[in-house]
Amino acid sequence: MADLVLVVNAGSSSLKYSLVDAGPGTALASGLVERIGEGPGTLTHHGPDGDHRTEGTYDDHGAALCAALEAFEAHGPALSSVTLRAVGHRVVHGGAEFSAPALVDAALVAAVESLVPLAPLHNPANLAGMATAQRLFPDVPQVAVFDTAFHQTLAPHAYTYALPHAWVQEHRIRRYGFHGTSYSFVAGAAADLLGRPLPELNLVVLHLGNGASAAAIRAGESVDTSMGMTPLEGLVMGTRSGDVDPALHAHLHRELGWSVEQVDGLLNRESGLKGLAGVNDFRELDRRRTDGDPAARLAFEVYCHRIRKYVGAYYAVLGIVDAVVFTAGVGENAASVRAASLAGLERLGIAVDPARNAGGSGPRVISPDGSDVAVLVVPTDEEWEIARQAVEVVSAAGAARE
Ligand code: ADP
Repeated sequence: MADLVLVVNAGSSSLKYSLVDAGPGTALASGLVERIGEGPGTLTHHGPDGDHRTEGTYDDHGAALCAALEAFEAHGPALSSVTLRAVGHRVVHGGAEFSAPALVDAALVAAVESLVPLAPLHNPANLAGMATAQRLFPDVPQVAVFDTAFHQTLAPHAYTYALPHAWVQEHRIRRYGFHGTSYSFVAGAAADLLGRPLPELNLVVLHLGNGASAAAIRAGESVDTSMGMTPLEGLVMGTRSGDVDPALHAHLHRELGWSVEQVDGLLNRESGLKGLAGVNDFRELDRRRTDGDPAARLAFEVYCHRIRKYVGAYYAVLGIVDAVVFTAGVGENAASVRAASLAGLERLGIAVDPARNAGGSGPRVISPDGSDVAVLVVPTDEEWEIARQAVEVVSAAGAARE
């Protein structure tokens, strides 16, 4: 029997869902509800017979998930006629409490609630998704899969900010890291591609999507990562600045009278590629760059320079690197970024073969044969990873009961 998992990713004003067969990783259907709680919204359902777009008003995540279930009934596969093994929830912040996925119960909900101060936009949405799914599927086990869990292997010297220690501990201020589900999937897929066991490999993985981060992974465990207490730190992203001088906040307050909320909004929503070049979608940015737009060119160069700095830093952290791996929307598709970020690193054993970099699809090697460090492109699949982890948790819970 297929291990069918309904994967739910509840964002602040959106809800993504996917029905995944966890064995082969096939998505039988998926969809997105947008503008939840913001007036007229849309639901797009990709079913077995193509795409269906409906307009509606989705007051909250409960209404959005109900609409998704209606779309399943109308356009397939009808959830009322399949057996779900689990509902897998993407939960953004698991703090130091969760180093693995876990069954959703009252204690888990209370722990995720207690972490709301660390993820004020994300965790409440994730909680709403869990509560709704519990109501709609009372007999199906619910599993929370945390974005932060993969990075709980960071050593204290890697996760500690140099701030007053007792105070930092009291307020749980430290580096947590995100994109863990993607790193977990991509590390395994990179080992498969190289035909080597994951415990033997040192990897630098670059997850370059709308949000972007880097991770240093030794023997399948995260040893460092560029996002910190929140997803703002590190690489340049679609709308987030990544690293800036922390004194910027005080400067903007003193010189321009800005509030904390204004600075927060600037750094999270108005910066990155959008701030530099007026556009956060990388395809459009690259089009403008190749058309000669100087702002787009500078944005591209800042973006790639930041990636190169983290590759160098994580090379030093790991000592030996077996592969540099590109993943997510930009990493998988933008040959220009891969070439520019790694150009001139031959002395580190890193090179990109132009012909290999320009073509291909799926997991692939883009470094020349015989390179000391393999350069890989590995498509990520966070939904499949969530489905796999959810099935593992449910199986382990079942085994424990027997
Ligand atoms: P997320 O899951 O974080 O929302 P994705 O991993 O889907 O994001 O990545 C989105 C980014 O990938 C966007 O900036 C988009 O422009 C970029 N992208 C998608 N396809 C391509 C492509 N063919 N070439 C370059 N960039 C692409």
